Amino acid sequence: MTLEHVDVLIVGAGLSGIGAAAQLRSHLPHRSVAVLESRAASGGTWDLFRYPGIRSDSDMFTFGFAWRPWPGDQALADGPAILDYLRTVSQEYGVEELIRFRHTVTAADYDTAAACWTVTVRTPEGEQRLTTDFLWACAGYYDYEQGHQPDFPGLADFEGAFIHPQHWPEDLEYAGKKVVVIGSGATAVTLVPAMAAEAEHVTMLQRTPTYVLSRAGRDPVARRLGSVLDRVPDWVAFRSARERVGFGAARWANIAMIIASYQIARRRPERMKQIVRAGVLAQLTGDERTAGLAPGEAEEYVERHFTPPYEPWDQRLCFVPDGDLFEAIRAGRASVVTDRIRTFTAKGVQLESGDTLEADIVVSATGLRIRLFGGLDLTVDGEPRPFNEAMAYKAMMLSGIPNFAFTIGYTNASWTLKADLVADHVVRLLGHMERLGHRQVLVERDPSVEERPFMGLTSGYITRALDRMPSQGDRAPWALKQNYLVDLRVLRAGRLEDGPVRFS
Ligand SMILES: Cc1cc2nc3c(=O)[nH]c(=O)nc-3n(C[C@H](O)[C@H](O)[C@H](O)COP(=O)(O)OP(=O)(O)OC[C@H]3O[C@@H](n4cnc5c(N)ncnc54)[C@H](O)[C@@H]3O)c2cc1C
Repeated sequence: MTLEHVDVLIVGAGLSGIGAAAQLRSHLPHRSVAVLESRAASGGTWDLFRYPGIRSDSDMFTFGFAWRPWPGDQALADGPAILDYLRTVSQEYGVEELIRFRHTVTAADYDTAAACWTVTVRTPEGEQRLTTDFLWACAGYYDYEQGHQPDFPGLADFEGAFIHPQHWPEDLEYAGKKVVVIGSGATAVTLVPAMAAEAEHVTMLQRTPTYVLSRAGRDPVARRLGSVLDRVPDWVAFRSARERVGFGAARWANIAMIIASYQIARRRPERMKQIVRAGVLAQLTGDERTAGLAPGEAEEYVERHFTPPYEPWDQRLCFVPDGDLFEAIRAGRASVVTDRIRTFTAKGVQLESGDTLEADIVVSATGLRIRLFGGLDLTVDGEPRPFNEAMAYKAMMLSGIPNFAFTIGYTNASWTLKADLVADHVVRLLGHMERLGHRQVLVERDPSVEERPFMGLTSGYITRALDRMPSQGDRAPWALKQNYLVDLRVLRAGRLEDGPVRFS
């Protein structure tokens, strides 16, 4: 039986898959493309997560696609607005009709002689197989079925509601309730002020503090440019050019800020700590309009709850729009407790310090379970190719696995900055192969290149998964720079036929 064949097969219809397919549609419209998506809807992360307050913590000028301006000057956008943007892009670029929902790619075997993958797909109608020249994993970085859930002692005794943000119950009532949010990452700092608006009180219970920075919800550059550009006559032909200028300026201002602040954090961590600390202190004490904690009390609060024991960017920094977390703390609607859980009780949580926290609802914002490349089992000519034996090349291909690319965004900047560059590079690569009649591209590992961990962060969710990840190398093009300007040069303008790449 002849199997259905597509030229390029994309796994996942989230931000990366939609962006990848749109780029292929725009630049290689004659190539056939299918996007296989396990879920019944597109949007990935932005469709899955439904907890109160869900929003980006990246600015939308860099989190939106470079080629499709994010409308308006809202820097941090809410989940529904992001989902709407992604689905609009998907419609506009003809991606929607390429997506096959409820299609989970489980395995793929590459046949070297035929230069072709045979892909196994689980569907509601049973297992299917199809073939493709090029396999592109845009499957995110975490397990969609289950988040990370530590084993809390006594949890079975707890009589309230216990929730993981990855599976938020649509009908959860929290108005007037006592809520404990366990965690201190991006999800916890989003949930706390959002729930505090209605709950009796929300306590953020953290084991370890996180660096938290307030940033303007509306982007200052986009806002100022918007008001200047608004004075320019509103001719229809001029309108989109005007929007693009505004978007481009806001985008580059944000890129510059992201790179500069990351470089300061890594090169002068003490300076960065001072900046963050001063920001939190100012937020907690408030000003003449918004009274906050007394100066001594605020100092102590910062010391106990906002002073992490690690360097900035060893783990992700958290951004909160217009200081909403601190506003909730100032108003007494939310508080932070830094302690460890001894056990759950019927009425709440008992802590190692001996204190107890009463709770009607406990939200376990304890993070994700990392799962890379959609959990695919890859084989080449029937031989398994475990990911942890491969080395990543330019953080978008894997040594020893032909005709395969993956999209994984930055951890220190907007995911999309990297996703766009990878899409650009894959499109260029496929065009190059087509022009020269190559059917296979393979990256060969260089034994002189030393292994480094694939992701440099020390966060628990990363370290727990490092042994299942590929490695990166100690030098270009194997090293993952986490720097947009470097990648811009390497991925957008760099040579395709460099050292370890073999075309045939
Ligand atoms: C709550 C939350 C907030 C975030 N906020 C930000 C932010 O502000 N800025 C930022 O840069 N990043 C953020 N991230 C990271 C975020 O995941 C990325 O920015 C981006 O949405 C990832 O898009 P993606 O398409 O690569 O992956 P996903 O959004 O995870 O989409 C992957 C898709 O692939 C599908 N899939 C997976 N495996 C298979 C398979 N085997 N077969 C078929 N389909 C499969 C999934 O069902 C899913 O639809 C956030 C993440 C979370 C969880």
